[in-house]
Amino acid sequence: MELTQLESTLSDVRQIIRQYWGYDSLRPLQQQAMESVLRGRDSLLVLPTGGGKSLCYQAPAILRGTMTVVVSPLISLMKDQVDGLKACGVPAVQIDSSQTASERNALEKSIRHGEIRLLFVSPERLAMADFHNLLQQIRVETFAIDEAHCISQWGHDFRTEYRQLRKIKDLFPNASVHAYTATATEDVRADIIRQLGLQNPDVLIGDFDRPNLTYRVLSRRESLNQVLDVVRRHDNEAGIIYCISRKAVDELTRLLRKHGLNAVAYHAGLTSDERRSAQEYFASEKCDLIVATVAFGMGIDRSNVRYVMHTGMPKSLEHYQQETGRAGRDGLEAECVLLYSSADLMLWKSIMEKSASTELAAETNSSSFLEAANKHLDQISRYCRGAVCRHRALVEYFGQSFAKESCGACDVCLGETTYVEESDLIAQKIISCVARIKGRFGVGHLVSVLRGETSETVRKWQHDELSTFGILSSHPKNDLRDWIDQLIGLGVLDRLNLTMQSGFNFSAVVINQESWSVLRNQRSVRLMQPMRSTKELKAKRMRIAEDSWQGVDKDLFEKLRAIRIKIAKERGWQAFMVFSDATLREMAQVKPSNPSSMSRVKGVGNTKLENFGEAFLEVIAAHCDASNLKIDVF
Ligand code: ADP
Ligand code: ZN
Repeated sequence: MELTQLESTLSDVRQIIRQYWGYDSLRPLQQQAMESVLRGRDSLLVLPTGGGKSLCYQAPAILRGTMTVVVSPLISLMKDQVDGLKACGVPAVQIDSSQTASERNALEKSIRHGEIRLLFVSPERLAMADFHNLLQQIRVETFAIDEAHCISQWGHDFRTEYRQLRKIKDLFPNASVHAYTATATEDVRADIIRQLGLQNPDVLIGDFDRPNLTYRVLSRRESLNQVLDVVRRHDNEAGIIYCISRKAVDELTRLLRKHGLNAVAYHAGLTSDERRSAQEYFASEKCDLIVATVAFGMGIDRSNVRYVMHTGMPKSLEHYQQETGRAGRDGLEAECVLLYSSADLMLWKSIMEKSASTELAAETNSSSFLEAANKHLDQISRYCRGAVCRHRALVEYFGQSFAKESCGACDVCLGETTYVEESDLIAQKIISCVARIKGRFGVGHLVSVLRGETSETVRKWQHDELSTFGILSSHPKNDLRDWIDQLIGLGVLDRLNLTMQSGFNFSAVVINQESWSVLRNQRSVRLMQPMRSTKELKAKRMRIAEDSWQGVDKDLFEKLRAIRIKIAKERGWQAFMVFSDATLREMAQVKPSNPSSMSRVKGVGNTKLENFGEAFLEVIAAHCDASNLKIDVF
């Protein structure tokens, strides 16, 4: 394609995006990615979740007037995408195993008649002879591979069926193949290109930072209260809480429900019906709070998730990025809170050791599996303990540089955690107390001795006679527990897990080689302390959220949400397919009074205006009339 021709084509694409989606500007790399598709050159586009990958193959398909085949890993994902496209007036269908023969025939007919622009299928279907015969007959020229990292064993989500996709290039030598993923590691990218046999592809890699997410790492104290804090900060908003084990999921769900919250559990131990209904509940906004293991996530594309919380450390930064990626897909602000304790590292190490000896490692060499797993664990625990800007730490981990000095959206940059003055001295006092106690005692006992409490055990062992007895008596219990935990995390104290004769498990705090470096002033440590009041925290959060809520009439926003849910229900769609939260907020700010000013709101394309414009205009008019508000505020 010549340059001038390409330019005019690109301006046509923009026109299509305006008309169908109601967006008037492109996100970073969308133009380049569409160019690859329009030129028929293989490509790999890596953008974080919510970056707008799907538009890159959808808009060109409409412009060209031919059918693009989209490979997607889950039927539920396909259905959502097809529904979402239909809502915008784009002819899209899926073919899957749940359809009857006559439904299938009707679909094939419309495909042959050239009526369809986007066809969604599973990788298995692509391998079926009669199906690829059909595609060959109608000369399909473009394939889009969604969640392309599923083809790589090195990714976090390998699916054997994706291996079938290697055949595309053989079966359709003239077609271009475009791979899309949010996975950032270099090995996986190279593997995707190799596995799919992409030829001289355009490789487009976006910025991994998600500026709309605020990251916080807190040391885990009373986790239920910490969870409640976060949930209550997000009253009426959607959130996902990840726990490490199924048991923890069930327990936390029970407690949250006891506190009157409509929390729903999700993990692989539930029946597939239970899991499906939990997903459905969350997706259709019947419930806002999911408590889950990492089994939950793939196929969840609810775009207005406002917080993702981890009650324990995930097993790698890749996992963390993937799971927090589910927050704020609509580009609006969202919060990610991770509760960390040095015990998590121990827990994961023992889980990994167990799985290294079982099926997980069957495909790989178990010692290299363990080595890699341990490396990932060390990296994420360093992230948790670190006092580097979280945005910077994540972006740099994924091999990119971070230009800003301060992100303004993490606990470190917001100054929510501060260094403890005289950290070294405090560390030395704690360590020398551990050394003097001699023997195996837990954190609770150590704290008692440091604070000068004469408990029964203290007296029994005559620890009230130690020179370190009461040496940190002016510090609150929780701070001391935190610092001991941090010293373990820093490797200057060790945790020793013991099973008593009675079968009782407990973990003792003991000194190690590094402890001596601290005592001898050869190693300096920095202890951190969270900010005291949650009020301050709330104020800070509000400031971040302020921008996107500026001028938004919150009452009106809630009314618009209600009508959105009603319309979605009637059609069997997910709520945000009617309009996203971002669009509703803009409506609640602009307060359009007629179709033409409604069409200026981002996310209002022609079809949606026609179908839902009136219903929303009515609600806006009634609201504005009642309180005599200004309308059409541009
Ligand atoms: P990804 O697949 O990369 O996770 P999506 O394609 O689902 O992201 O897009 C995320 C959201 O952003 C969707 O609601 C989409 O409609 C919206 N979006 C995409 N491109 C634009 C754009 N240029 N302007 C505004 N919103 C956009
Ligand atoms: Zn920061």
